[in-house]
Amino acid sequence: MTDAALIRLTAAELGDKLAAGDVSAVEVAKAHLDRIEAVDGDVHAFLYISDTALDAAAAIDRRRASGESLGALAGVPIAVKDVLCTLDMPSTSGSKILEGWVPPYDATVVSRLRAADLVLLGKTNMDEFAMGSSTEFSAYGPTHNPWDLDRIPGGSGGGSAAAVAAFEAPLALGSDTGGSIRQPGAVTGTVGVKPTYGGVSRYGAIALASSLDQVGPVSRTVLDSALLHDVIKGHDPRDSTSLRDEWPSFAEAARSGLAGGALQGVRVGVVRELNGEGFQAGVKARFAEALELMANAGAEIVEIDAPSFEYAISAYYLILPAEASSNLAKFDSVRFGLRVQPEGGGTVEDVMAATREAGFGPEVKRRIILGTYALSAGYYDAYYGSAQKVRTLVQRDFAKAFDQVDVLVSPSAPTTAFRFGEKLDDPLSMYLNDLTTIPANLAGIPGISVPMGLAAEDGLPTGLQLMAPARADARLYTYGAAVEQLLEQSWGHTLISRAPDLSTTEQTAATEGVI
Ligand code: GLN
Repeated sequence: MTDAALIRLTAAELGDKLAAGDVSAVEVAKAHLDRIEAVDGDVHAFLYISDTALDAAAAIDRRRASGESLGALAGVPIAVKDVLCTLDMPSTSGSKILEGWVPPYDATVVSRLRAADLVLLGKTNMDEFAMGSSTEFSAYGPTHNPWDLDRIPGGSGGGSAAAVAAFEAPLALGSDTGGSIRQPGAVTGTVGVKPTYGGVSRYGAIALASSLDQVGPVSRTVLDSALLHDVIKGHDPRDSTSLRDEWPSFAEAARSGLAGGALQGVRVGVVRELNGEGFQAGVKARFAEALELMANAGAEIVEIDAPSFEYAISAYYLILPAEASSNLAKFDSVRFGLRVQPEGGGTVEDVMAATREAGFGPEVKRRIILGTYALSAGYYDAYYGSAQKVRTLVQRDFAKAFDQVDVLVSPSAPTTAFRFGEKLDDPLSMYLNDLTTIPANLAGIPGISVPMGLAAEDGLPTGLQLMAPARADARLYTYGAAVEQLLEQSWGHTLISRAPDLSTTEQTAATEGVI
C-alpha cells in the first residue's frame, strides 16, 4: 500500500490492517511523519514533532510479532493538543510563558493513549491557553485551514482539527471549554466530540476554566472518535470531578448506528435559538437538508425553545474569565516557565509583572482583566453571581428539552471558516462563533460535530451538532454515525474526500480509486 493511500485510511481501518499484519506500525507512523514533513510547512498544525514516534512504533511491532494481543488502536498514530502535558515533549498551551516547558508527568489521557499503544506524533497548535476560535491567538503563529490556506481552522483546537483534515494524523485529542473541539471540527470537515463533563480525566490538561473544560476526540469518522473515546474514558482518582460511571462501549454504539434503522422513531429536537439570525445561508441550507434526511429515516423532528440560551454567551464570558484568571495565577515566574528580569532589577512582584507582561498575549490579558474584575468584592454578585444563575437556567432549559426529545441538534457553528484577521480586532464577533457550542459546556452535557456538507456560497465545510443528556454520550455515537452515513449516501462520497489535496501530483495519482 502506498503512503498516500495509508494516510487516507480511517483509524478503524488502520487498526484492522495492523492487526492483520498487512502493514506495520513503523510503516504507518513513517507515512504520517512524511506527510507532516510534506504539508505542515503550509498548514502549521504542529508545534512539536515527536522524535520517538518511530521507536514507539517499532516496539509495538515487536510486541505484536511476539504474539501479544494488542488493543483496537494499537499502532495507530495520534496528534495531541498542546494543552495536554506530555513527559517527553514540550507542553506550551500555545503560550510564550511556557515556551520549551517539558512537564514532569503525562496527562492521564496521554498515559491511556500510551497504554493502548497509540503512537504519539507530536503536539498541535492552539490559541493561547485555549482562548479563541481561530488559532490566531497562538503565540507561535496560526494554523491554516487545509480547505483554504487563507482561512482559519477554528479554535482553540485548530491544530488538532487541521492535522486530521490534512491527513497528517488519523486521530487527535482536543479540549473543549466552549466549543474548541466542535467548532474546529465544523470548519475543517472533521468529527469532534465534547464528552460529558467528568467523563474524561482533566488531570494534566492545562486548565482554562475548570468547571467547563473537557478533553475529547477528533477524527475523520464518528466510529473513529468512538474508538478513541473508549481509550480515554473512565474514572481517574487524580481528577476530583471525574465520574465513577461504568461507560458502555462507544465503538459498539457507533457500529449500531451504522447498522441501519437507528433513527427510526428517535425524537430529534431542533433548538430554535441555535439557528436564527447571524447564521450563514449555506449553513442553514445544509442543516435543513440534514433534518430532512433524518425525518426520511424515521426520526420525529420537534421544535424546541430554550429561551435562556440567549444569555449563554454573556454568562460564559463571565464564568470563563473568572476561572481562567484564577487558574493562570500560577504562571508567576517563580516555579516554572518564563522569567523576565525588569531592567535595573526589582522586587518579586516586579519580576512577576514583567514576566506576565512579556509572556501572555492580548486575549489572555483581556480575559484576566475581565475575570479579576468580575470576581472583585464589589461586583462579585452582580456579575459572577448572575452568570451562575444563568448557567442554572441553561441547565433547566436542557432538562426540559430532554423530557421531550432524545437528542438535540443545531449547526455546530454559525458560519464556515472565516479569513485570517477578519475578527481579530473585534473580540465580540469572535465570541459569537461559539453561540451554538457554549450551552453544552455550561450544562456539562456531551456534544458531537459531524460533517454536514459544503456551504453553497463558498464551498467550505459545515458541521451538524448533536447534543445528548449528561452521561448519554453513547447516543451521540449511535445517532451521529447514522446521520453521517445518511449524509454520505446522499452525496455519494465522504466530505473529507473533497478536501483539496495539499500533496504532490504523484501522491494524488496514487490515491485515485482509494476513496
Ligand atoms: N472559543 C471559545 C473561547 O474562546 C472556546 C474555547 C475553548 O473551548 N477552549 O473561549
